[in-house]
Parts: sequence; structure tokens; C-alpha cells
Amino acid sequence: MSERDLLMIPGPINFDPGVLRALGAPTAGHTAPEFVALFSQTLDMVRKVFLAPNGMPFVLAGSGTLAMDTAVCNMIEPGDRALVIATGYFSDRMATILERYGAEVTIARADVGDVVPLDRVEAELKRVKPKMMTLTHVDTSTGVAVDVHALAQLGRAHNALVIVDGVCSVAGMELRQEEWDVDIVLTASQKAIGVPPGLALLVVSARALEMFKARKKPVLSYYSDWANWLPVMQAYDARKPAYFGTPAVKLVYALHESLRQIIAEGMDERIARHKKISDAFKAGIRALGLKQVPVRAEIAATTMTAPYLPDGIDAKLIGKIREYGVVVAGGLHPAIREKYFRVGHMGVVSFADIHATLSAIDRALRDLGYRASATLGAPEKL
Ligand code: PMP
Repeated sequence: MSERDLLMIPGPINFDPGVLRALGAPTAGHTAPEFVALFSQTLDMVRKVFLAPNGMPFVLAGSGTLAMDTAVCNMIEPGDRALVIATGYFSDRMATILERYGAEVTIARADVGDVVPLDRVEAELKRVKPKMMTLTHVDTSTGVAVDVHALAQLGRAHNALVIVDGVCSVAGMELRQEEWDVDIVLTASQKAIGVPPGLALLVVSARALEMFKARKKPVLSYYSDWANWLPVMQAYDARKPAYFGTPAVKLVYALHESLRQIIAEGMDERIARHKKISDAFKAGIRALGLKQVPVRAEIAATTMTAPYLPDGIDAKLIGKIREYGVVVAGGLHPAIREKYFRVGHMGVVSFADIHATLSAIDRALRDLGYRASATLGAPEKL
């Protein structure tokens, strides 16, 4: 990959130069007063970005899957019932993790590209009476976004803990953890949070922490056990050093800078900007004559787009797009893997980036012999 290539996959994203410079700052020890102060401010900013002023944040060294694993292993005891609202590959991963920790899992599965209707979710909540319901806000394998607010209301009305995988949504799409009464929101650093891969982030409600404290059996993962991490996060919150496992010090510096930028932009403004960019990109994809995986515009994520390949064009398109300096991702959902591709547009993405991406897709399609009914102009003359 050339240093000038444009990375437009749904994470990791292109990172802001200020965030990358923070990685190059001199390394403080994890108990040094300046790092303790920085971590404490970081935890406060995490609460702001998750819109959970009273939540308990955890920032751990690991990827998004560790965040999923941590949420599940701390809340589930063997035999607990869990309902998974499944909209793709990552919802299925959540089901696998739940089973690994001994949950009795029921999956309410959407058709590919669709969501599970609310009345079906309600019927399953009544029938299963789960301790926990999990949602994938944006399943990165389909680009489908679920209605977290409505689902959380239903879950809470049936006394289920509501866990949201926000890996492809937090800091890019509207997700009001406290106002919507969501118990755990989790994400990873490399998407709309705007920090290189390596941090798992969770914010936990007081209710979920109480349930954790009332557990009868120990947590089955040693590394992820909140009995180990809660005192550490609480100490950093109170600007005191503490140790369980060495934090990813440099990534926390980068997180501090990225969260500072996110908050300076403003959460509402940032969410609106992601929608504008997404609307423009999706309009360009439609103009090229490509369909998208989400079956209705209202359920399409604004952090990414999942276009179907047109008839007669195969996944070679992705390599062709790359020849024009833009990196997009292939399919991931097993049922349609060879039939579509995925483009991320989150974080510091600009209109210039999406124009460059559309232009690269247009040129690559023409190279492969595709003639769109409408084109983006005559890029060969640019
Ligand atoms: N959930 C979703 C919605 C994701 O998109 C991803 C990663 N693309 C994950 C979970 C897992 O995160 P990671 O790859 O960082 O482990």
C-alpha cells in the first residue's frame, strides 16, 4: 500500500495526524502522575462520547472482540438465558461468545439486509424471558443499522439487560446510552473513535454493575474480570495510580487526543456530518447503478456502505479500485460474501475522500466493462 493510498474500509480508518503524533509522544510509565491525569481525563471524555455521564467506563488493551467477550463474561453465569438480535456476522459472533460462557442462547435472526421486526422481538422477549438481550447497532457485514432506542425500550420493558455492540457506530451514529437506558455499550478504537486498533472500550450502567457484584459464580475469564479491572478504572477516575495489567499507554495518549477532537466537533454535529457524507456517498453509488445490501434506506448505517456488485462484475473490482489508490473491503457475510463489497466512511473522512472513492469505483467498473446507466461524469477526461 502506498503512503498516499486512501483507506476506505470499515475500520481501521484513516487516522488524524494529531492522533498519530500523540502515539509518538515520549512514553510515560503507567503509574506516572502525568499518565494518571491523562487517563482520568480520557475516562471522562469516554462518558461524554458514549452520552453516558453516570456510566462506568473501561478502557482495556485488546480489540472489539475483547470488548464483546468482557461484556458477556462479566454479566453471564452458566444457564442464564440470552436473546441475540442477529443482523449479520458480528451478531453471530456475540451468540458464539454467549454460548462459550454457558448462556442458553436464542437467536432472533433477520433476513440478510433487513432487521428483526419489533413485534417479533417483543414476542421473543415474552417467550424467552432472557436475562440479557444483545444488539449489533451496525453489523459491519451488512451495513444494516438497528433501531437501538426502540429495541432498548422493549428490552427494558421485559427486564432484560441491554448490551449494544457499537463497534461500527459509537462516535459516528446517534447512540444515547443513558437516555435510551442501555446497560452496556462497547466499541473498539479503530473505527469512528479514530485511534489505531488495540483498545477495547465499554461503558457500563450502575444497574449492570450491581448485577455483576451480585454474581454467585466467579467470572470465567481472568483477564477480563471486572473484579480485577473495576478498582483500577475507579482509581484512575479518582486520579490515583493502580495496576492490574499494563495499559496500552501510547494508545491511551492517542485516544485522549481523538476524544478531544470528537468533543470539540460536538456529538450532534459529528453525527450529522457522518449522515451527510453517507447520504452523498450512497447517492453516488445509486448513480452508478449499484444496489445496496440494506433493503431500505432507513435501516442503512451512516458509518459505512455495502454496495452489491453489478451483474457480470466479480470481486476483482476491489483490486481494480485499489489500482486507483483507494482501498475498499470485500464481502464478509457468508450468505453473500462474493456478491458485494464494503466501504467505510467514518472519523476524519471528508467529502474529498468520498468523491475520490466514487471516482475510483466508477473508473474500475468501466475498466471491467461495466456501463452504468448514469455515470459520475466523464472521469477519463479529468
Ligand atoms: N463488532 C462489530 C460490529 C465489528 O465491526 C467488529 C470488527 N469489524 C467487531 C465487533 C470485532 O472487533 P475487532 O475486529 O476489533 O475484534
